[in-house]
Amino acid sequence: MTVDGLDERRVALRGAAAACAGELREHAAALDAAPSEMKPHLGVPGFDLVRRCTTPERYGDPLRVGRFTYASGSSLDTVVWMTELAYGDAGMVLAAPGPSLAGILVDQLGDEGQREYFYRAVAGADVWAFFAVTEPAHGSDASGMECALSLGAPGSHRLDGTKKYVGNGARGSVGVIFARTGAGPLSIRAALVEAGADGFDAQGLDMVGLRGAALGEIRLDGVAVPDERLLARHLPPTRRGLWGAVRVFNTVRPQVAALAVGTGLACADLVRTERPRAPGLETVRARLESCRRLVYEAGAALDHDRDAGALSSTAKIAAVAAARETSRWAVRSLGPAALTDHPLLEKWTRDVCSFEFMEGTSDIQRLHVSRAWVRGRVRAGGPR
Ligand SMILES: Cc1cc2nc3c(=O)[nH]c(=O)nc-3n(C[C@H](O)[C@H](O)[C@H](O)COP(=O)(O)OP(=O)(O)OC[C@H]3O[C@@H](n4cnc5c(N)ncnc54)[C@H](O)[C@@H]3O)c2cc1C
Repeated sequence: MTVDGLDERRVALRGAAAACAGELREHAAALDAAPSEMKPHLGVPGFDLVRRCTTPERYGDPLRVGRFTYASGSSLDTVVWMTELAYGDAGMVLAAPGPSLAGILVDQLGDEGQREYFYRAVAGADVWAFFAVTEPAHGSDASGMECALSLGAPGSHRLDGTKKYVGNGARGSVGVIFARTGAGPLSIRAALVEAGADGFDAQGLDMVGLRGAALGEIRLDGVAVPDERLLARHLPPTRRGLWGAVRVFNTVRPQVAALAVGTGLACADLVRTERPRAPGLETVRARLESCRRLVYEAGAALDHDRDAGALSSTAKIAAVAAARETSRWAVRSLGPAALTDHPLLEKWTRDVCSFEFMEGTSDIQRLHVSRAWVRGRVRAGGPR
Protein backbone atom coordinates (compact mmCIF):
# COMPACT_ATOMS: atom_id res chain seq x y z
CA MET A 1 0.00 0.00 0.00
CA THR A 2 1.34 3.46 -0.79
CA VAL A 3 0.01 6.84 0.36
CA ASP A 4 1.59 10.02 -0.97
CA GLY A 5 4.46 7.89 -2.25
CA LEU A 6 5.12 6.32 1.18
CA ASP A 7 5.77 2.62 1.51
CA GLU A 8 3.89 0.36 3.93
CA ARG A 9 6.42 0.93 6.70
CA ARG A 10 6.02 4.71 6.58
CA VAL A 11 2.26 4.51 6.19
CA ALA A 12 2.27 2.61 9.51
CA LEU A 13 4.46 5.31 11.07
CA ARG A 14 2.13 8.00 9.78
CA GLY A 15 -0.85 6.18 11.29
CA ALA A 16 0.88 5.80 14.69
CA ALA A 17 1.70 9.52 14.78
CA ALA A 18 -1.80 10.51 13.64
CA ALA A 19 -3.22 8.50 16.55
CA CYS A 20 -1.28 10.73 18.99
CA ALA A 21 -2.35 14.05 17.45
CA GLY A 22 -5.73 14.37 19.18
CA GLU A 23 -4.27 14.21 22.67
CA LEU A 24 -1.53 16.71 21.80
CA ARG A 25 -4.27 19.08 20.71
CA GLU A 26 -6.15 18.63 23.97
CA HIS A 27 -3.09 19.95 25.82
CA ALA A 28 -2.26 22.75 23.38
CA ALA A 29 -4.18 25.63 24.95
CA ALA A 30 -2.90 24.92 28.48
CA LEU A 31 0.69 24.77 27.25
CA ASP A 32 0.21 28.02 25.35
CA ALA A 33 -1.11 29.70 28.50
CA ALA A 34 1.73 28.48 30.73
CA PRO A 35 4.69 27.12 28.72
CA SER A 36 6.92 26.68 31.75
CA GLU A 37 4.46 24.35 33.49
CA MET A 38 5.20 21.08 31.79
CA LYS A 39 4.16 18.59 34.45
CA PRO A 40 0.51 18.21 33.28
CA HIS A 41 1.68 17.29 29.77
CA LEU A 42 4.52 14.86 30.42
CA GLY A 43 2.57 11.62 29.99
CA VAL A 44 1.13 12.30 26.52
CA PRO A 45 1.86 9.48 24.04
CA GLY A 46 3.07 12.00 21.42
CA PHE A 47 6.01 12.91 23.67
CA ASP A 48 6.92 9.26 24.00
CA LEU A 49 6.83 8.89 20.21
CA VAL A 50 9.10 11.91 19.74
CA ARG A 51 11.62 10.54 22.26
CA ARG A 52 11.69 7.08 20.70
CA CYS A 53 12.06 8.47 17.18
CA THR A 54 14.88 10.88 18.08
CA THR A 55 17.05 8.75 20.36
CA PRO A 56 19.56 6.40 18.70
CA GLU A 57 18.75 2.73 19.27
CA ARG A 58 21.93 2.32 21.32
CA TYR A 59 20.69 4.72 23.97
CA GLY A 60 16.94 4.16 23.95
CA ASP A 61 14.05 1.99 22.91
CA PRO A 62 13.04 2.74 19.31
CA LEU A 63 9.42 3.06 18.20
CA ARG A 64 7.88 -0.18 17.03
CA VAL A 65 4.64 -0.35 15.04
CA GLY A 66 3.54 -3.87 14.14
CA ARG A 67 6.50 -5.58 12.50
CA PHE A 68 8.31 -2.30 11.81
CA THR A 69 11.01 -0.57 13.88
CA TYR A 70 11.96 3.08 13.46
CA ALA A 71 15.54 3.97 14.39
CA SER A 72 16.34 7.67 14.60
CA GLY A 73 18.19 9.35 11.75
CA SER A 74 15.89 9.11 8.72
CA SER A 75 14.75 12.56 7.57
CA LEU A 76 11.81 11.10 5.66
CA ASP A 77 10.61 9.18 8.73
CA THR A 78 10.93 12.35 10.80
CA VAL A 79 8.90 14.59 8.50
CA VAL A 80 6.23 11.90 8.21
CA TRP A 81 5.60 11.68 11.98
CA MET A 82 6.19 15.37 12.55
CA THR A 83 3.52 16.49 10.07
CA GLU A 84 0.96 14.29 11.82
CA LEU A 85 1.89 15.43 15.33
CA ALA A 86 1.88 19.09 14.22
CA TYR A 87 -1.65 18.54 12.94
CA GLY A 88 -2.39 18.04 16.65
CA ASP A 89 -0.33 21.04 17.69
CA ALA A 90 3.15 22.24 16.69
CA GLY A 91 3.74 23.96 20.03
CA MET A 92 3.30 20.62 21.79
CA VAL A 93 5.72 18.95 19.35
CA LEU A 94 8.39 21.53 20.18
CA ALA A 95 7.74 21.11 23.90
CA ALA A 96 8.53 17.39 23.80
CA PRO A 97 11.38 16.43 26.14
CA GLY A 98 14.41 14.70 24.62
CA PRO A 99 17.56 15.31 22.60
CA SER A 100 15.95 17.61 19.95
CA LEU A 101 18.37 19.68 17.83
CA ALA A 102 21.31 19.12 20.17
CA GLY A 103 21.03 15.37 19.54
CA ILE A 104 21.40 15.89 15.80
CA LEU A 105 24.60 17.86 16.40
CA VAL A 106 26.00 15.36 18.89
CA ASP A 107 25.34 12.59 16.36
CA GLN A 108 27.34 14.58 13.79
CA LEU A 109 30.20 15.93 15.89
CA GLY A 110 30.35 13.89 19.09
CA ASP A 111 32.82 11.11 19.81
CA GLU A 112 31.63 7.95 21.51
CA GLY A 113 32.14 9.27 25.06
CA GLN A 114 30.32 12.53 24.29
CA ARG A 115 27.36 10.73 22.73
CA GLU A 116 27.15 8.43 25.73
CA TYR A 117 27.32 11.39 28.15
CA PHE A 118 24.69 13.40 26.25
CA TYR A 119 22.13 10.66 25.70
CA ARG A 120 22.39 9.52 29.31
CA ALA A 121 21.84 13.15 30.41
CA VAL A 122 18.63 13.55 28.34
CA ALA A 123 17.21 10.10 29.08
CA GLY A 124 14.61 11.23 31.67
CA ALA A 125 10.98 11.88 30.74
CA ASP A 126 11.27 15.49 31.97
CA VAL A 127 14.62 16.53 30.51
CA TRP A 128 15.08 19.01 27.66
CA ALA A 129 18.14 19.98 25.64
CA PHE A 130 19.09 23.34 24.11
CA PHE A 131 21.01 24.18 20.94
CA ALA A 132 22.35 27.72 21.19
CA VAL A 133 23.62 29.50 18.07
CA THR A 134 21.66 32.77 17.83
CA GLU A 135 22.83 35.89 19.66
CA PRO A 136 21.12 39.23 20.32
CA ALA A 137 22.92 40.84 17.36
CA HIS A 138 23.52 37.73 15.20
CA GLY A 139 20.66 35.62 13.87
CA SER A 140 20.78 34.91 10.15
CA ASP A 141 24.52 35.67 10.05
CA ALA A 142 25.51 32.97 12.56
CA SER A 143 29.15 33.19 11.40
CA GLY A 144 29.32 36.64 13.00
CA MET A 145 28.68 35.26 16.50
CA GLU A 146 30.64 36.90 19.33
CA CYS A 147 30.30 34.45 22.20
CA ALA A 148 33.90 33.59 23.22
CA LEU A 149 35.52 30.26 23.96
CA SER A 150 38.91 30.94 25.52
CA LEU A 151 41.51 28.95 27.42
CA GLY A 152 40.57 28.41 31.06
CA ALA A 153 42.14 26.37 33.86
CA PRO A 154 44.43 23.55 32.66
CA GLY A 155 42.42 20.99 30.70
CA SER A 156 39.47 23.30 30.19
CA HIS A 157 38.07 26.31 28.33
CA ARG A 158 35.69 29.05 29.45
CA LEU A 159 32.59 30.46 27.77
CA ASP A 160 31.56 34.13 27.88
CA GLY A 161 28.73 35.83 26.02
CA THR A 162 24.98 35.80 25.44
CA LYS A 163 22.72 33.54 23.39
CA LYS A 164 19.15 34.54 22.59
CA TYR A 165 15.96 32.99 21.14
CA VAL A 166 17.17 29.51 22.10
CA GLY A 167 14.52 26.76 22.14
CA ASN A 168 14.27 25.18 25.63
CA GLY A 169 16.71 27.92 26.67
CA ALA A 170 15.39 28.13 30.22
CA ARG A 171 13.99 24.62 30.70
CA GLY A 172 16.89 22.69 29.16
CA SER A 173 19.30 21.04 31.58
CA VAL A 174 22.02 20.22 29.05
CA GLY A 175 22.82 21.27 25.52
CA VAL A 176 25.30 22.71 23.09
CA ILE A 177 26.62 26.26 22.92
CA PHE A 178 28.42 27.61 19.87
CA ALA A 179 31.24 30.08 20.43
CA ARG A 180 34.44 31.24 18.75
CA THR A 181 38.08 30.87 19.72
CA GLY A 182 39.25 33.61 17.33
CA ALA A 183 38.42 35.35 14.07
CA GLY A 184 37.22 33.45 10.99
CA PRO A 185 34.60 30.75 10.42
CA LEU A 186 36.94 27.84 11.28
CA SER A 187 37.34 29.20 14.81
CA ILE A 188 33.72 28.42 15.71
CA ARG A 189 33.32 25.43 18.04
CA ALA A 190 30.47 23.73 19.87
CA ALA A 191 30.63 22.71 23.53
CA LEU A 192 28.43 20.45 25.64
CA VAL A 193 27.28 22.47 28.65
CA GLU A 194 25.10 21.78 31.68
CA ALA A 195 22.63 24.44 32.77
CA GLY A 196 23.65 23.99 36.39
CA ALA A 197 27.25 25.07 35.71
CA ASP A 198 28.67 28.09 37.59
CA GLY A 199 28.27 31.25 35.50
CA PHE A 200 25.32 29.86 33.47
CA ASP A 201 22.14 31.89 33.72
CA ALA A 202 19.02 31.35 31.59
CA GLN A 203 15.77 33.29 31.48
CA GLY A 204 12.62 32.47 29.51
CA LEU A 205 11.46 35.00 26.91
CA ASP A 206 7.82 35.97 26.59
CA MET A 207 6.71 34.80 23.14
CA VAL A 208 3.70 35.59 20.97
CA GLY A 209 3.67 32.43 18.85
CA LEU A 210 4.84 28.83 19.32
CA ARG A 211 5.11 29.45 23.04
CA GLY A 212 5.67 25.72 23.58
CA ALA A 213 9.17 26.16 22.13
CA ALA A 214 10.00 28.14 25.30
CA LEU A 215 12.67 30.41 23.83
CA GLY A 216 15.18 31.69 26.32
CA GLU A 217 18.19 33.92 26.73
CA ILE A 218 21.36 32.29 28.07
CA ARG A 219 24.10 34.36 29.70
CA LEU A 220 27.52 32.81 30.07
CA ASP A 221 29.98 34.31 32.47
CA GLY A 222 33.15 32.25 32.62
CA VAL A 223 31.36 28.89 32.32
CA ALA A 224 34.04 26.19 32.57
CA VAL A 225 34.06 23.59 29.76
CA PRO A 226 36.30 20.57 30.33
CA ASP A 227 38.18 19.81 27.12
CA GLU A 228 36.43 16.45 26.79
CA ARG A 229 33.12 18.34 26.37
CA LEU A 230 34.34 20.20 23.25
CA LEU A 231 32.64 18.53 20.31
CA ALA A 232 34.50 17.41 17.18
CA ARG A 233 37.93 17.20 18.81
CA HIS A 234 38.49 14.06 16.73
CA LEU A 235 37.50 15.73 13.44
CA PRO A 236 39.54 17.96 11.11
CA PRO A 237 39.15 21.77 11.60
CA THR A 238 36.83 22.11 8.58
CA ARG A 239 34.40 19.63 10.17
CA ARG A 240 34.25 21.14 13.67
CA GLY A 241 31.92 24.06 14.33
CA LEU A 242 29.86 25.79 11.67
CA TRP A 243 29.89 22.74 9.43
CA GLY A 244 28.03 20.85 12.15
CA ALA A 245 25.56 23.71 12.64
CA VAL A 246 24.87 23.83 8.91
CA ARG A 247 24.27 20.05 8.92
CA VAL A 248 21.76 20.52 11.74
CA PHE A 249 20.02 23.37 9.91
CA ASN A 250 19.85 21.25 6.74
CA THR A 251 18.36 18.36 8.70
CA VAL A 252 15.85 20.44 10.61
CA ARG A 253 14.66 22.65 7.74
CA PRO A 254 12.21 20.11 6.26
CA GLN A 255 11.04 19.43 9.82
CA VAL A 256 10.03 23.08 10.20
CA ALA A 257 8.26 22.76 6.85
CA ALA A 258 6.48 19.67 8.25
CA LEU A 259 5.37 21.66 11.32
CA ALA A 260 3.99 24.34 8.98
CA VAL A 261 2.12 21.81 6.82
CA GLY A 262 0.57 20.14 9.88
CA THR A 263 -0.54 23.48 11.30
CA GLY A 264 -1.94 24.63 7.95
CA LEU A 265 -3.93 21.39 7.61
CA ALA A 266 -5.26 21.84 11.15
CA CYS A 267 -6.57 25.32 10.22
CA ALA A 268 -8.05 24.08 6.93
CA ASP A 269 -9.79 21.13 8.58
CA LEU A 270 -11.28 23.34 11.25
CA VAL A 271 -12.97 25.27 8.42
CA ARG A 272 -13.98 21.99 6.75
CA THR A 273 -15.74 20.95 9.97
CA GLU A 274 -17.38 24.28 10.70
CA ARG A 275 -18.17 25.38 7.16
CA PRO A 276 -17.89 22.46 4.72
CA ARG A 277 -18.83 24.58 1.71
CA ALA A 278 -16.44 27.45 2.44
CA PRO A 279 -15.23 28.94 -0.86
CA GLY A 280 -11.63 27.99 -1.59
CA LEU A 281 -11.52 25.00 0.79
CA GLU A 282 -10.52 22.44 -1.83
CA THR A 283 -7.82 24.74 -3.27
CA VAL A 284 -6.37 25.44 0.16
CA ARG A 285 -6.24 21.74 1.03
CA ALA A 286 -4.75 20.82 -2.35
CA ARG A 287 -2.00 23.41 -1.84
CA LEU A 288 -1.16 22.02 1.59
CA GLU A 289 -1.18 18.44 0.32
CA SER A 290 1.24 19.39 -2.43
CA CYS A 291 3.45 21.01 0.23
CA ARG A 292 3.28 17.78 2.22
CA ARG A 293 4.53 15.82 -0.80
CA LEU A 294 7.32 18.39 -1.34
CA VAL A 295 8.34 18.03 2.33
CA TYR A 296 8.43 14.25 1.92
CA GLU A 297 10.60 14.65 -1.19
CA ALA A 298 12.95 16.96 0.71
CA GLY A 299 13.23 14.40 3.53
CA ALA A 300 13.97 11.61 1.04
CA ALA A 301 16.58 13.78 -0.73
CA LEU A 302 18.37 14.38 2.58
CA ASP A 303 18.40 10.67 3.35
CA HIS A 304 20.14 10.24 0.00
CA ASP A 305 22.61 13.13 0.49
CA ARG A 306 22.95 14.95 3.86
CA ASP A 307 24.16 18.11 2.08
CA ALA A 308 21.27 18.29 -0.41
CA GLY A 309 19.67 21.36 1.13
CA ALA A 310 18.08 23.11 -1.86
CA LEU A 311 14.89 21.05 -1.91
CA SER A 312 14.50 21.54 1.87
CA SER A 313 14.80 25.30 1.38
CA THR A 314 12.17 25.21 -1.36
CA ALA A 315 9.88 23.10 0.81
CA LYS A 316 10.28 25.45 3.74
CA ILE A 317 9.52 28.57 1.68
CA ALA A 318 6.40 26.94 0.21
CA ALA A 319 5.10 25.40 3.44
CA VAL A 320 5.61 28.46 5.63
CA ALA A 321 3.76 30.69 3.14
CA ALA A 322 0.96 28.14 2.73
CA ALA A 323 0.47 27.78 6.50
CA ARG A 324 0.47 31.53 7.10
CA GLU A 325 -1.97 32.23 4.27
CA THR A 326 -4.20 29.30 5.26
CA SER A 327 -4.53 30.59 8.81
CA ARG A 328 -5.60 34.02 7.50
CA TRP A 329 -8.03 32.41 5.06
CA ALA A 330 -9.50 30.30 7.88
CA VAL A 331 -10.18 33.40 9.96
CA ARG A 332 -11.88 35.11 7.00
CA SER A 333 -13.91 31.98 6.23
CA LEU A 334 -15.24 31.59 9.76
CA GLY A 335 -16.33 35.20 10.09
CA PRO A 336 -15.76 38.12 12.44
CA ALA A 337 -15.96 36.07 15.66
CA ALA A 338 -13.59 33.35 14.41
CA LEU A 339 -10.74 34.19 16.76
CA THR A 340 -12.88 34.28 19.88
CA ASP A 341 -15.06 31.30 18.94
CA HIS A 342 -12.03 29.14 18.08
CA PRO A 343 -9.18 29.74 20.55
CA LEU A 344 -6.95 27.16 18.85
CA LEU A 345 -7.31 28.97 15.53
CA GLU A 346 -6.32 32.18 17.31
CA LYS A 347 -3.26 30.33 18.67
CA TRP A 348 -2.36 28.85 15.29
CA THR A 349 -2.54 32.27 13.59
CA ARG A 350 0.21 33.31 16.02
CA ASP A 351 2.20 30.08 15.70
CA VAL A 352 2.45 30.21 11.90
CA CYS A 353 4.43 33.47 12.09
CA SER A 354 7.23 31.76 14.04
CA PHE A 355 8.00 29.11 11.43
CA GLU A 356 9.43 31.87 9.25
CA PHE A 357 12.33 32.40 11.69
CA MET A 358 13.27 28.81 12.46
CA GLU A 359 16.31 27.40 10.59
CA GLY A 360 16.57 30.42 8.33
CA THR A 361 14.04 32.95 7.12
CA SER A 362 12.54 32.74 3.62
CA ASP A 363 15.06 35.37 2.43
CA ILE A 364 17.88 33.12 3.61
CA GLN A 365 16.27 30.07 1.98
CA ARG A 366 16.10 31.95 -1.32
CA LEU A 367 19.82 32.68 -0.98
CA HIS A 368 20.47 28.94 -0.40
CA VAL A 369 18.51 28.01 -3.52
CA SER A 370 20.24 30.64 -5.65
CA ARG A 371 23.70 29.52 -4.44
CA ALA A 372 22.82 25.90 -5.18
CA TRP A 373 21.73 27.00 -8.66
CA VAL A 374 25.02 28.82 -9.26
CA ARG A 375 26.95 25.71 -8.15
CA GLY A 376 24.95 23.56 -10.55
CA ARG A 377 23.17 21.64 -7.78
CA VAL A 378 19.73 22.72 -9.05
CA ARG A 379 18.38 22.19 -12.53
CA ALA A 380 15.26 23.57 -14.20
CA GLY A 381 12.34 21.53 -12.84
CA GLY A 382 13.85 20.99 -9.37
CA PRO A 383 16.97 20.34 -7.33
CA ARG A 384 19.31 17.48 -8.26
C1 LIG B 1 10.31 29.35 17.36
C2 LIG B 1 11.77 29.68 17.24
C3 LIG B 1 12.72 28.74 17.68
C4 LIG B 1 14.08 29.06 17.62
N1 LIG B 1 14.98 28.16 18.11
C5 LIG B 1 16.29 28.48 18.15
C6 LIG B 1 17.23 27.58 18.78
O1 LIG B 1 16.85 26.53 19.28
N2 LIG B 1 18.54 27.95 18.79
C7 LIG B 1 18.99 29.12 18.25
O2 LIG B 1 20.18 29.36 18.31
N3 LIG B 1 18.11 30.00 17.65
C8 LIG B 1 16.78 29.70 17.61
N4 LIG B 1 15.88 30.58 17.04
C9 LIG B 1 16.35 31.86 16.51
C10 LIG B 1 16.38 31.86 14.97
O3 LIG B 1 17.40 31.02 14.52
C11 LIG B 1 16.58 33.32 14.51
O4 LIG B 1 15.39 34.03 14.82
C12 LIG B 1 16.83 33.38 13.01
O5 LIG B 1 18.12 32.90 12.72
C13 LIG B 1 16.71 34.82 12.46
O6 LIG B 1 17.55 35.64 13.17
P1 LIG B 1 17.01 37.05 13.71
O7 LIG B 1 15.73 36.78 14.46
O8 LIG B 1 18.12 37.70 14.46
O9 LIG B 1 16.64 37.89 12.43
P2 LIG B 1 17.65 38.66 11.47
O10 LIG B 1 18.76 37.75 11.05
O11 LIG B 1 18.03 39.94 12.12
O12 LIG B 1 16.73 38.95 10.22
C14 LIG B 1 15.81 40.04 10.19
C15 LIG B 1 15.26 40.17 8.78
O13 LIG B 1 16.34 40.45 7.86
C16 LIG B 1 16.34 39.49 6.80
N5 LIG B 1 17.74 39.19 6.43
C17 LIG B 1 18.76 38.90 7.27
N6 LIG B 1 19.89 38.64 6.58
C18 LIG B 1 19.57 38.75 5.26
C19 LIG B 1 20.30 38.60 4.05
N7 LIG B 1 21.60 38.27 4.04
N8 LIG B 1 19.64 38.81 2.88
C20 LIG B 1 18.33 39.13 2.86
N9 LIG B 1 17.58 39.31 3.99
C21 LIG B 1 18.20 39.10 5.17
C22 LIG B 1 15.66 38.27 7.35
O14 LIG B 1 15.06 37.49 6.31
C23 LIG B 1 14.59 38.88 8.27
O15 LIG B 1 13.46 39.23 7.53
C24 LIG B 1 14.51 30.29 17.09
C25 LIG B 1 13.56 31.21 16.61
C26 LIG B 1 12.21 30.91 16.70
C27 LIG B 1 11.21 31.93 16.21
